[in-house]
Amino acid sequence: MQASRRIAVVGAGLGGLTVAGLLQRLGHHVTVHEQATQFGRIGAGIILSANAVKVLRHLDIEAALLRTGIRPAAFLSRDWMTGTTSFALAMDGQTEARFGAAFLNIHRADLHEILLSALAPGSLHLNHRLEAMDAAPHAVTLRFANGDALDADVVIGGDGIHSRLRALLFGEALPRFTGRMAQRAIFPTARLGGMAMDDCTKWWGPDRHALSYFMTSRRDEVYVMASVPGAHWDGTDLSRPLPRDEFLASFDAATPELRRLVEGATECAVWPICDRPRDDRWHHGRAVLLGDACHPVRPYMAAGGASAIEDAAVLSRCLHEFDAPEEAFHHYAAARIPRVAEVQRISIANTWMRGPDESLDWFFGHDAMATPLAVHA
Ligand SMILES: Cc1cc2nc3c(=O)[nH]c(=O)nc-3n(C[C@H](O)[C@H](O)[C@H](O)COP(=O)(O)OP(=O)(O)OC[C@H]3O[C@@H](n4cnc5c(N)ncnc54)[C@H](O)[C@@H]3O)c2cc1C
Repeated sequence: MQASRRIAVVGAGLGGLTVAGLLQRLGHHVTVHEQATQFGRIGAGIILSANAVKVLRHLDIEAALLRTGIRPAAFLSRDWMTGTTSFALAMDGQTEARFGAAFLNIHRADLHEILLSALAPGSLHLNHRLEAMDAAPHAVTLRFANGDALDADVVIGGDGIHSRLRALLFGEALPRFTGRMAQRAIFPTARLGGMAMDDCTKWWGPDRHALSYFMTSRRDEVYVMASVPGAHWDGTDLSRPLPRDEFLASFDAATPELRRLVEGATECAVWPICDRPRDDRWHHGRAVLLGDACHPVRPYMAAGGASAIEDAAVLSRCLHEFDAPEEAFHHYAAARIPRVAEVQRISIANTWMRGPDESLDWFFGHDAMATPLAVHA
């Protein structure tokens, strides 16, 4: 694609920042338009698997990520009630060599800051909430809530599960509430009172599960995220504070070790777990979607962010390789949809890494910067 084309990215999330940084490195003129007026430090961690790290290294931020986050010694699957270990994957040099990169657990705010540092100066525009789009054959005009308008040759929607661009292209449709809530807490490790904690554990319960992990190699903060049944969500707020007692009550039937661990929690929050049924409409005209905007997944495989990052890799390669946006989008969707559909399926089943899993190489070993694009209509 001609490098002089103007590419507008809507949403400065994981997928939007990655695709913008990659396209800028390929010489394209890319601007990013984000609704937020500033970025807050939302208290949550994220697991970045080797397949995501392999993409991010092309933004020259791998060293910063490894410095800031933690390479966990191992991923453990343990039973919620008994504590028995059903699976362990050592995250050692051998595993890194097998999958081609390190695994990383990191605070979301730290990841975001590092992704922002990879963006060309002046290319991020905050307080730009996309409202409307006029599409003409050779360009689009984006209209923002602050009154600004922008002409672009291509628009990329990285605007998350509530994507406005998706609604403009294919009609309004609310995300699907899955009947599960995500409860979370971050607290200083000192609150464990000397109790030992493994670097990264998924605790599997009968109708719920939890993840506990550190987000820096200092191991000075604990992150706990639990997925528990939830009857309903009114859908108006994305997240709200959760009384500590309610958080602890979710762990009433847990093994004493897990209960002692979550006792460290001070401030807690809860948000609904939503997704959308599979929908293969990822592009129309000069507009294309990536990440949660086109395929939100349940967070049971720690793969939603990694998939958005993989999308960014393949989309940037397609836009660089093919002159016509429609052709680029066609190749992008053809390459990505089968893989993402499988991620959605596995995430819904919530079985990933509970025991030995033969598809680890398929997911972690994938290199979206190198995978062949030769998919023809
Ligand atoms: C509980 C939980 C735990 C998770 N854990 C993991 C994990 O460990 N590993 C992993 O890989 N994934 C995980 N995920 C999934 C991951 O967080 C998402 O899949 C990922 O953030 C999606 O990235 P994105 O770039 O598509 O969208 P987002 O990161 O949601 O970014 C969207 C951006 O668009 C902006 N925006 C929205 N609307 C507009 C608009 N109209 N105009 C302008 N800007 C707009 C938003 O403000 C936001 O900045 C988890 C998800 C949940 C719910």
